[in-house]
Order: sequence, then C-alpha cells, then structure tokens
Amino acid sequence: MVAQVIDGKAFAAKVRAQVADQVTKLKEENGITPGLAVVLVGEDPASQVYVRSKGKQTVEVGMNSYEHKLDPETSEDDLLALIDKLNNDPAVHGILVQLPLPKHLNEDLVINSIDPAKDVDGFHISNVGLLGTGQKSMVPCTPLGCLMMLRDHHGSLSGMDAVVIGRSNIVGKPMAQLLLGDSCTVTIAHSRTKDLPDVVRRADIVVAAVGRPEMVPGDWIKEGATVIDVGINRIERDGKNKLVGDVDYASAAERAGAITPVPGGVGPMTIACLLANTVTACCRANGLSEPEGLTA
Ligand code: NDP
Repeated sequence: MVAQVIDGKAFAAKVRAQVADQVTKLKEENGITPGLAVVLVGEDPASQVYVRSKGKQTVEVGMNSYEHKLDPETSEDDLLALIDKLNNDPAVHGILVQLPLPKHLNEDLVINSIDPAKDVDGFHISNVGLLGTGQKSMVPCTPLGCLMMLRDHHGSLSGMDAVVIGRSNIVGKPMAQLLLGDSCTVTIAHSRTKDLPDVVRRADIVVAAVGRPEMVPGDWIKEGATVIDVGINRIERDGKNKLVGDVDYASAAERAGAITPVPGGVGPMTIACLLANTVTACCRANGLSEPEGLTA
C-alpha cells in the first residue's frame, strides 16, 4: 500500500480562507475586527520567527495584530500588568504569550493570568479542565489541527483505535482528549511504555509527538493506518540540514493508508488553528454564533 499524503499546507490554506471569510463577515455585518495580541519576552531566535509568522498571517486574514516585544529582563509584575491590560482591552480577542519564557518567569502563573476566553493557545488551566470534561473550551492549536485533518480524512473517528505517543500538556494530552471526545479508544504512550511497537501496531490512528527523529519505523505501522506526525526535528544528513518528523516517513508511507509529511503536514496547521481560535474567541465575546468547522 502506498499512503495518501495528507497535505497540511493545502489544508491550512483552506482554514485560513475560512477564517478570512468569517473576518469579512464580522467586519461587514457587525463592525468588529478580531484582534490577536502576541507577547514575546526576550530574543530567542526560533520564537522571533514564530511571532513574525503569526503576525504576518494574522494581518493576511484581515485581523488586527498587536505585537508586544519585551526585554529579556522584564519582571513578572510588568508582564502580568501587560496581560491584565490586554485582558481588559475590548479590541483584543486573543492573547498568546510565546513560550518558552525566560527562566526567571513562572510560566504557569503567566499563562493562568490570561483571561480564559482570550486564551487562544488553550493552555489556561480552565480550558484544560473544560476540554477534559468535554465542555466548550479554547483548544490547543496543534492538536486541533491534527483533529481537523483526521476528521477531514475519515469523516467519523468513532470506535477507532488511536495511539498518541507523547504526553505533553501542549500536544499529547489534549490530543488524547480530543480523540476521546470523537469516541476513539485512546492509548497514550510515553517514555516508560512497555513494548511500544506492539502498542503502535494495534492502532488505526497514530499521532507521534515525541521530538525524536524518525523513531517510529514503518514496521510498527498497521497496514492502512493513518499517521499524524507532529514531530519537528532538525538533523544533519548527507552534509545537509534537514527537517524530519518522529516517524520514518519513507518506510511508514509503504504501510500507512494516509500520512502527514514533515515539513508540510501538521506544522502549517498550527498557526491556521491559532487564527481559527481567535475568530472563535471574537464570536463568543460578542455573543455571535461560532463559525462551523473551525472548532473541536
Ligand atoms: P515534550 O518534550 O514536551 O514531550 C515529549 C513526549 O515524548 C514526552 O511525553 C515523553 O515521555 C515522550 N517520549 C520521549 N521519548 C520517548 C520514547 N522513546 N518513547 C515514547 N515516548 C517518548 O514535546 P512536545 O509535546 O512539546 O513536542 C513533541 C514534538 O512535537 C517535538 O518534536 C516538537 O518540536 C513538535 N511540535 C510540533 C508542533 C507543530 O506545530 N507541528 C507544535 C508543538 C510541538 P515522558 O513524558 O515519559 O518523558
């Protein structure tokens, strides 16, 4: 079997177009422009790239982008004061604090100071609890993107066996909750899982979110399974810098029914879902019905 490639780049463009339509509607019918505030503390080069890309895409879909770049030495009090200001600013519908924060700042404290209704990353403890209890929440962007691609490919996920490799708060755990919400039978695997190959071989859906280059070989994949590769790993191969996932793409694509490539799979969906979450937050804040297909 040669797997169908799930094109995350094309899918993300579709999501952005849906968001842009919704933004036009909000402007024309309600006189509202959704706004996303992104806070960056320090000068981490990767974070700077992400923040620039988020700002650019926010403007491209017609929303307002507010970037707050703070000194690496910024005190916790000053950061919390800025978040308080954004929480109370009616022009701001989504707030994202770029992680990781410098060591002297308490990440949990900072994230939990964001108004949960504006927490477009879905990391606030209230949103984690709402997702865990199957209530309406803001859903973390990367798992939301994975879910959208799975729903698009399969229609219903009900009754499927899903394995999520990785149990981080950002990807693994919320991914598992979403799959459970769609009535999959879910296994969460991690570094202490016994016989991981056997666990993965039973899965109709494999979501790999580990951060170890190509650790899942093709012979772990059940014939016809759907493989979602969240991993982003930089490696040196043949003297070149290369981006690879957590799954060995070449061998997995020979057995899987469908697979996301790296790059061009899950990656582009993450920012698209951030924009989707911002438009959703804006609709909720204004008592308007939510756009269909952009939430979990
Ligand atoms: P974390 O480091 O927070 O979590 C990694 C998880 O993998 C842990 O739960 C760990 O288990 C598990 N793990 C480590 N080694 C093994 C192993 N040998 N077997 C099974 N499980 C193992 O990573 P993140 O969740 O933040 O990210 C995972 C990957 O996804 C990274 O490559 C990251 O770059 C990428 N990513 C991509 C995004 C995108 O937009 N495409 C967004 C976010 C992340 P344990 O808990 O036991 O230590």
